[in-house]
Amino acid sequence: MTAFQHRHLLGIEDLSRADVEQIFHRAEAYLPYCRSALYRLADLRGKTVVLAFFEPSTRTRVSFELAARRLSADVVSFQALGSSLAKGESLLDTVQTLEAMGMDALVIRHPAAGISWLLREHVSCSIINAGDGQHEHPTQALLDGFTLWRHFGQLQGLRVCLIGDILHSRVARSNIALLHLFGAEVGVCGPLTLIPRNVEQIFGVRLFTDLQEAVRWADVLNVLRLQWERMESGLVPSVEEYHRWFGITARVFEWKADVWIMHPGPVNYGVELTPDVALSPRSFIRQQVTHGVAIRMAVLSLLLGG
Ligand code: ASP
Repeated sequence: MTAFQHRHLLGIEDLSRADVEQIFHRAEAYLPYCRSALYRLADLRGKTVVLAFFEPSTRTRVSFELAARRLSADVVSFQALGSSLAKGESLLDTVQTLEAMGMDALVIRHPAAGISWLLREHVSCSIINAGDGQHEHPTQALLDGFTLWRHFGQLQGLRVCLIGDILHSRVARSNIALLHLFGAEVGVCGPLTLIPRNVEQIFGVRLFTDLQEAVRWADVLNVLRLQWERMESGLVPSVEEYHRWFGITARVFEWKADVWIMHPGPVNYGVELTPDVALSPRSFIRQQVTHGVAIRMAVLSLLLGG
């Protein structure tokens, strides 16, 4: 197999199908090791990975940390609060300072779209985008795609419908790009206030405003959280109203018994999804989380040459 061509992971847009397949195969090989600290692999021994999260995170931050540790890297969690950023130091100075201490990879989540692209121009370590504003969240799309790839064997022709707040969702953007690389069909469904204008032409997806129609069309529903933190007020009349029209409840299995459910987390129960559906045998949500560690192990080791 050819060497991985990239030093950074900024967005799915930069990857080819062969790149993604290489990440999937590496993640598959790491799966037996990703849930236990008993078997620590040496692939990243001597490497230092810094996690810098400027927005809340549970799954992404912890799974990057576990992934780096499972491969024997040194991991440092940079706390913006209490750092010299509070004394007026720029993000760029901060990152260059960390690099001068021997950082090999920076995993960064930041509210500003495109921040990783800017940083890449000024540092020589690997940059991994762990979510930039509403732009991209590549490792989420990789773990979602990996979950489907393992279950269905291939993504070609699979119909995946993203449900809810497409407009503010970096998960939606990265998923659409990855699914298209593999020839999957993508739908989006939600209130029109939460769907980008001309979504069909710009993103090459199918638009549904009626949930029942979307469910009947899809093999998989990827349910998204309302991104309140990025939303102007007034885009949904009320949470109750949203739930009534677009909430994924057990009714979806009456419309289509064999539809599958995904969610990137965190879930707001009673808004976009109900707990019975999240815990149903047709839910991939737990597997997505486990696969997140294997995918991040694969990404770190491929980028850092392990
Ligand atoms: N965890 C995902 C993200 O960071 C999805 C979400 O927050 O709703 O984008």
